[in-house]
Amino acid sequence: GERYRSPLLDGLNPQQREAVEYRGPALLIIAGAGSGKTSVLTRRIASLLETREAWPSQILAITFTNKAAAEMRDRVRAILGQGADGMWISTFHSSCVRILRREAEKAGLTSTFSIYDSADTKVTLKRIIKSLDADTLGFTPGNVSARISKLKNELADVDSYARNANMSDPQEVMFVEIFRQYTSRLRAASALDFDDLIGETVYLFRAFPAVAALYRRRFRHLLVDEYQDTNHAQYALVRELTRPVSRELAEEMEADGVHVRNLRDATGAIPGASLTVVGDSDQSIYAFRGADTRNISEFERDFPGTKVILLEQNYRSTQNILSAANAVIGHNFDRKEKKLWSAGGDGEKIVGYTAYSGHDEAQFVADEIAVLHQAGMAYRDMAVFYRTNAQTRALEEILVRAAVPYRVVGGTKFYERAEIKDALAYLISVANPVDELALRRILNTPKRGIGPATETQLASFAEANQITFRQAMRNAGALGLGPKVTGAILALSTLLDEAALKLDPASPASPAGPANVSELLTFLLDGSTLLAGLRNSRDPQDEARAENIEELVAQTKDFNRENPDSGLVDFLTQVSLVAAADDLDDASGTVSLMTLHTAKGLEYEAVFLTGVEEGLLPHQMSAGEPGGPAEERRLFYVGITRARQRLYLSLAMTRAQFGDINVAMPSRYLQEIPVDLIDWKQSPGMANSRGGTQPRALNARRDGFGGGFGKRDGTPPGLPPAPKPKTEWANRVTGTVRDNGDLTLAAGDRIRHVDFGDGRVNQVTGDGAKRIAHVQFDTAGAKKLLIKIAPIEKL
Ligand code: ATP
Ligand code: MG
Repeated sequence: GERYRSPLLDGLNPQQREAVEYRGPALLIIAGAGSGKTSVLTRRIASLLETREAWPSQILAITFTNKAAAEMRDRVRAILGQGADGMWISTFHSSCVRILRREAEKAGLTSTFSIYDSADTKVTLKRIIKSLDADTLGFTPGNVSARISKLKNELADVDSYARNANMSDPQEVMFVEIFRQYTSRLRAASALDFDDLIGETVYLFRAFPAVAALYRRRFRHLLVDEYQDTNHAQYALVRELTRPVSRELAEEMEADGVHVRNLRDATGAIPGASLTVVGDSDQSIYAFRGADTRNISEFERDFPGTKVILLEQNYRSTQNILSAANAVIGHNFDRKEKKLWSAGGDGEKIVGYTAYSGHDEAQFVADEIAVLHQAGMAYRDMAVFYRTNAQTRALEEILVRAAVPYRVVGGTKFYERAEIKDALAYLISVANPVDELALRRILNTPKRGIGPATETQLASFAEANQITFRQAMRNAGALGLGPKVTGAILALSTLLDEAALKLDPASPASPAGPANVSELLTFLLDGSTLLAGLRNSRDPQDEARAENIEELVAQTKDFNRENPDSGLVDFLTQVSLVAAADDLDDASGTVSLMTLHTAKGLEYEAVFLTGVEEGLLPHQMSAGEPGGPAEERRLFYVGITRARQRLYLSLAMTRAQFGDINVAMPSRYLQEIPVDLIDWKQSPGMANSRGGTQPRALNARRDGFGGGFGKRDGTPPGLPPAPKPKTEWANRVTGTVRDNGDLTLAAGDRIRHVDFGDGRVNQVTGDGAKRIAHVQFDTAGAKKLLIKIAPIEKL
């Protein structure tokens, strides 16, 4: 007879359907971008729930960002038509925090432990390096934190590292000492850094099999998205969670009243949870943070009995975009060949644009956005990507001027602002009184006349007396400090005590029940005068700082409303785990600007991929790294495959960087895209100086894509035809390369620039292709121009 078919399989292709319906211990779904990996994972969860094969509480799904987690939760809800409370859908970090807070005591922590971000880590390391004079050996907070992070991602701790270190090397001895002190300081402060969150959970499970067994019993289905970007520690965590529970342990659990009978197999053991991972090795872009694609390539060996499903149809992009992506990634060797195809038709050609400068490039982006918007595309369906945050300056400037609503995703770093960290440090000091870092941060913020010498005295007093910094503050009277300073320390200490009492349900200080987060924050801000001080300050910057703190207060109110059962520690956890892409929530109605790394997993109708130049993409930092250029190519691939309908690739021939103007070469990756997929346009700013009132893009449109600006050879009017470009390749990318190579300029010469008008050369520096004219323009001010390619003529 007819088998019932759930509507949640509707529209899926046969491979996707199989991926949703397959049941077994391990499932590996490998597929290129946009082939429905994340969609399939979501439907698989819905399928497990709908068929009642799993309770919501038996599912643990891991996403790469909190935002992706929220989306997946919403989609499951939309498919099932109901919520699925008790299901864990979150990032590795969030899941681990939840586990560690529950099991804090066993992990040797307080349940209110602090989470250190990279800035906290660096402050801590700076203190250690200073106290050891280790900077003379070349140690910096930056290089040490990178090294420690790498080790922790490989699950090495200081002891395991020291065992294999060459202790006759003074450098090694010093590094081990810094690592050791860092570890003990975090312990003493009941703090974990980001990498610890994963590692400590693994250690916990390994040290306490009975604890691990509880989670193995609970999570019967583990699903991981973006598996290609997991590191070794995360891999180990997945292993721990999916191991079987032995018969002995299962019996112990039963004796303890934990219901496991229905889970036990014929041997009496509880089989390991079923594991589903999806990933694309071609999109692995976090090797610099320890991501290891061997987790995918060795998956079948690690998890015997794995079923592998390949998805090959792409539902996101046009064939032109896909063909470009396939061609680019095909240049990475040592990869499994995947052929993505799309039924969506060829679509428009990719538009390439060679700008004269970063500003010109930004103008092009703004103009094209206007054209697309006029044609009916919503701003929220467009995104601009770049390799480095420094590139946003020019983009923002032009977008503001063009009145294009935009939002820099992950660029604001709200919680990293000093004043926000100050306010949060007050909350942390109450939540986790042993956190010396937070206490030292607020000790003299706002200014209370407690200088660095006093701070150091308190710290060494605490150390010498084997007490915490907080206890040292309570005992400030014993330090022999002046009465004013002593009074200030004690007043702060009292404020924190009072705040702590407000959280205590049994305290007479909280007759109406314990204070919520916003009440507590308001109390601390009032008592410390932190906010009032900023409001009354004459420094105009302080006004913005005060507004930021008010925004934080507003956020705590939202938090109370949305999470009535959650408290201070939950709020602090949420704040700690915010990632760049989580910023997207309010992005409706605006164009999104973000780095290529942040763009992973997302999709837009139109994508502008800017700065496709040597030095930016591949980034110059990657040059010396083994595998660097291949990883950068994957980043380019990720960028290309975010686009559904329209893709724009742009580069600038000159780019201002650190006050210098650098000449840029087209990215090597552009050569890898078949010529017929891209329509190259050059800079209208260079080639079409006729001006006029039309927006440049409209001008461009009228002329048609694919050249035809100015004279036929693309030379700006009034200038001699450009010499023949050196290579066919250069010609293709840049239209016509301007080359003023033999233009001789000297101080005193008058010149004309297509954008800046007339001016006088003050000085010529550099030589050969790098000669720079320092020009004072009559109206445009002083500029440095690269003589070889600047759109100038001698008058
Ligand atoms: P990435 O590698 O970029 O993370 P992905 O493989 O996770 O991509 P999804 O984001 O799940 O791909 O899907 C890409 C797009 O294709 C989404 O808009 C999704 O809704 C759509 N899609 C996936 N499967 C189908 C299908 N069978 N029919 C129609 N659309 C689909
Ligand atoms: Mg995805």
